[in-house]
Amino acid sequence: MKFKEKEEKKMFILKDKMQLENAIEKALKIRPRVKFDRFGRYRVSGSKGSFYIVICKKSDNGYKTIACTCKGAEKGLVCYHAVSALSLLIGLAKQRQTAAV
Ligand SMILES: [Zn+2]
Repeated sequence: MKFKEKEEKKMFILKDKMQLENAIEKALKIRPRVKFDRFGRYRVSGSKGSFYIVICKKSDNGYKTIACTCKGAEKGLVCYHAVSALSLLIGLAKQRQTAAV
């Protein structure tokens, strides 16, 4: 399954584009449930029904970072939980923008 270019979303955290695309593809296939805890903190369902905590935050230099409690993220990989949480975050940010206009 190839990702359509026009659907490509702007990502900010990620150094490895290939890894990101793989994670997006996996997220689209698995479609994990994302529960909103509070802004910047999410619970994302894993393949075995458990939930992982994903935290999005800004570092001191303004660089957005994302962390997940799963094993893949521990190894420094971009996981589909992070991508799923991120898409929700982007959705929320868009809603906020729309509301502000
Ligand atoms: Zn993860």
